[in-house]
Amino acid sequence: MRDNFFAPDRVNYILRTYLPTWNYEARVEEIVRFCKETDTHHVMLFTDAQHICWNQLTLDEAKLEAANIAKAKARLAQDGIRVGINSSYTMPQSRFDHRGQCDYDYWVTRADGSCDHRIPCPLDPKLDTYLKAFYTILADVHADYIYLDDDHRYLFHGDNNTFGCHCDLHLKTFTERTGSERTREALNDALLNDAAVRRQWIEMLGERLVEIARIVSDTVHAVDPDVEVGQMVPCVHPLPAMGHSITNVMDAMAPVTRPVVRPCIGPYGDTIRRHIIPGMFYLEFIGHVLGDDVDYTPEIETTPHTRFSMSMTTVRFHITQALLNGMNNPALSTSGYMGNSMFLEPEWVLFLRNERAWFEGIRSIAPQRGTRCGVQLIFDFDSTKANPNPIDDVNDQNWPAFMLCDVLGNMGFAYTFDDSPVRFLAGDTVYALPDTQLQELLSGNLILDASAAKALVDRGYAGQVGCSPGEAIAPFGGEECTDVDFFGPYVGDFFSHKATPLQAIRQLNIADSAKVLSHIIDHDRKRVAPGMILFENALGGKIAVFACRIGSSDPDTRHLVCYQRQWVMRQILAWMAPESMPVFVESPKDFAVQCWDDGNRLLACITNLSYDNTDEITVEINVAGLTPAAVRYIDDDGASQSLTEYIEDVSTDAQMLWRIQRPMPLLRSLVMIVER
Ligand SMILES: [Zn+2]
Repeated sequence: MRDNFFAPDRVNYILRTYLPTWNYEARVEEIVRFCKETDTHHVMLFTDAQHICWNQLTLDEAKLEAANIAKAKARLAQDGIRVGINSSYTMPQSRFDHRGQCDYDYWVTRADGSCDHRIPCPLDPKLDTYLKAFYTILADVHADYIYLDDDHRYLFHGDNNTFGCHCDLHLKTFTERTGSERTREALNDALLNDAAVRRQWIEMLGERLVEIARIVSDTVHAVDPDVEVGQMVPCVHPLPAMGHSITNVMDAMAPVTRPVVRPCIGPYGDTIRRHIIPGMFYLEFIGHVLGDDVDYTPEIETTPHTRFSMSMTTVRFHITQALLNGMNNPALSTSGYMGNSMFLEPEWVLFLRNERAWFEGIRSIAPQRGTRCGVQLIFDFDSTKANPNPIDDVNDQNWPAFMLCDVLGNMGFAYTFDDSPVRFLAGDTVYALPDTQLQELLSGNLILDASAAKALVDRGYAGQVGCSPGEAIAPFGGEECTDVDFFGPYVGDFFSHKATPLQAIRQLNIADSAKVLSHIIDHDRKRVAPGMILFENALGGKIAVFACRIGSSDPDTRHLVCYQRQWVMRQILAWMAPESMPVFVESPKDFAVQCWDDGNRLLACITNLSYDNTDEITVEINVAGLTPAAVRYIDDDGASQSLTEYIEDVSTDAQMLWRIQRPMPLLRSLVMIVER
């Protein structure tokens, strides 16, 4: 049985880098120096120099790389530094034809018959042979763990409307499995239009991913039963369409003691500031799915560039967020994967040294998993398999998770995957949920986008939803805020649907008792359809429906993220269950809030998402019995300090309001703790 290589009671930095065979001596000593200067005791070494090598090492190359890593492992051990391996077998970093480099009979093939000659078809038997040889070589290094990079999926899924791979071998295998022979065109048509065929196909895609994971783990464990095979979880939202449910692949990796898992952290840059909060979805959701009994090494990078693409402030925010999610072993890529010096971005060393106290302070107060508060988002890995409808675009089967976290998170509404009094369903997940759960959801507080409302109607719950989404509306121009109670100061205002996808707004055919909050208007400012409605159903449920579909990759969410929508959402949540917003920043308007409450302690992470610095915020508190006297915060040195002297109680009869005077620059979160 292996030892616990990550110390349990500290923040374990991991340097994640490529150690070049061509510059071994200089770089390995630099690694030692970097580790000493930053109090780092773990290094994760790539098997290849991504971008400047082919996508799959030859076995001879693999032997050279493995020997290089083994040599480094011995050298680093002299300074108490441990080594893990980051492997990839088809990461498509090279954009060029690989037929001269690798010997495969089948290459991934799109629905239109075109091939991607960078990536072997996952079914090709020659891949089994390769994986067995490749992982035997890597296992012989006896590193702590071997990660499969996030190429362990159907990377080309969605290209040219392709479901998985459409090569001849996939066609033949599916024919044998189903007894029905189909041409490529007929298969693609069936996958888009025949839900039963689609379900069988997704199962086949998923089974192969599980099988490959098992081949790798069996191979590794035949050489060394103590090496963990780890999963670099890719972006989660497309996985339901390829039969990957994270746990099925993780189980096949046969964890030795504790699974080793790396969640991704969203966009590899902070040039789009509004993507930082939704990018946290992947890490947060993986933690929710897999729980505490996992060694998480979240991906943290300025890679592949420097502060030109990712600021150290964002890196600090990412590590803070990882720690709040119980992920204490950040894997730091400081200089890309091409063998460059880990000192490429000089700021890292200073940063890791200076911020350790803050990180340890956050780790020491990290909330208990399962206690996160806010609007609950629900996603099911069977959502695509369960969808009975024809689909136009494979990518529409992705969960709209990023967009929901964008909309809620960027407008300051706490969200969660734990149980909560308010739920938000969007997309096709409804089709995968059992009737007992749907009835429970409909008898509570439920917010729906047009797709989820349509799915509930399909499931026979039109009477409980209060509307039936019909055809797409065209033309539309904007949305008028019409309800006085719910739009308050914004009644009579409009917000734009300038970038809303043309098919995204549905005609809501509403029940007589539904309350219309806003109207879609045309270019003559004529009201053509309801924009948002509320409905109270016979089950006692309070339902809110958006006429707009929230897509998985909508290019622009400004029709959803605006002052008017923020105001109405806040009124809707207050009408449904104010406790779903334990803390809400009333001013300024663009703060993110994350909350955890275990009954004894409320923890709120309050973050300025704006370039506009402020020295004062006003927060609404929706938790009974809290007083400013009991509020503490974590200072920059990681110490818990009283926040009381910075709080002025400005509550009214209707609202508990605290004015907090603290400098709040972009992304430097105020982590506030209130003990009861
Ligand atoms: Zn194939």
